[in-house]
Amino acid sequence: MTTLARIDGVKVHPSVTPERVVEACEREMSSLDNPGICIACGEDAECCEPDARKYICEGCGLPAVYGTAELAIMMM
Ligand SMILES: [Zn+2]
Repeated sequence: MTTLARIDGVKVHPSVTPERVVEACEREMSSLDNPGICIACGEDAECCEPDARKYICEGCGLPAVYGTAELAIMMM
């Protein structure tokens, strides 16, 4: 897996690493959590569908929250 510089034209925050995406995917599969990650500010989001794209981030207000499965597919 590779760290992406940009997704849909948004610069990806340095904290959004493949390791973190994999960890979030595993958490999603082993619990009822639906984690998402904001690629703009690196904030964790909850109640996010796995294939979510461009959800509004509660932290920075940008439409940059992606579901973990979606991020994992893009990083492969
Ligand atoms: Zn954000």
